[in-house]
Amino acid sequence: MIVASPKSITELKSIIERHKKVLFAGCGTCVTVCLAGGEREVSISSYAVRMARRLDRNPVEIIQITIERQCENEFLKDLAEPASKVEAIVSFGCGAGVQAIAERFPDKPVYAALNTQFLGVLEDQAIWTEKCMGCGNCMLEHFGGICPVTRCAKRLLNGPCGGSIEGRCEVDSGKPCAWQLIYDRLMRIGQLERLEEVIPPKDWSTAWYSGARKVVRKEHQV
Ligand code: SF4
Ligand code: SF4
Repeated sequence: MIVASPKSITELKSIIERHKKVLFAGCGTCVTVCLAGGEREVSISSYAVRMARRLDRNPVEIIQITIERQCENEFLKDLAEPASKVEAIVSFGCGAGVQAIAERFPDKPVYAALNTQFLGVLEDQAIWTEKCMGCGNCMLEHFGGICPVTRCAKRLLNGPCGGSIEGRCEVDSGKPCAWQLIYDRLMRIGQLERLEEVIPPKDWSTAWYSGARKVVRKEHQV
């Protein structure tokens, strides 16, 4: 899922400082699951911003709505009616959701209430960890299903840097060395010989360096 975290109420208040009536729009998918931008968070933030603005003697009216997904045009139509009543929209979606709303409502200021972080998993209660950077050319089969592009601080594809201490990364000892994890996993699944493969330089043209990418699946178009 896409993992995001909320901006502080102070920052949110400052972002919408100039507006008197705004729409707080939640998203019911990834950011709801990671407790950052669903109905509950929209409600809590609305209350907190309203109170803070009242204390500043600069009250704001906030309309709240949470739609199923902000990254799909089909669901954005539900924002049309409330959006028509406000000066600006604050999206509690990921960066894709914020931009989808901005494209759909080109005459309305649209702001982000969240900091979009990464593609990750829920590892433990309220702990999410990054697993994939969306490089566009997945190579997990070589690494026992553990991504060194994302999880090795140096993005090494041909073995460890040599600085790992007791299985921890030399760049940040709070994190496991990705190559220790890869070694342990390959050993466990009986594929240790993969460590002898020489991975050629990765084709980064599929990654994010050349600007925004696009996926077209003609077989699903009608
Ligand atoms: S190799 Fe690329 S697509 Fe695969 S998990 Fe790593 S970053 Fe994601
Ligand atoms: S210690 Fe491990 S994870 Fe850290 S940079 Fe070196 S190889 Fe990568």
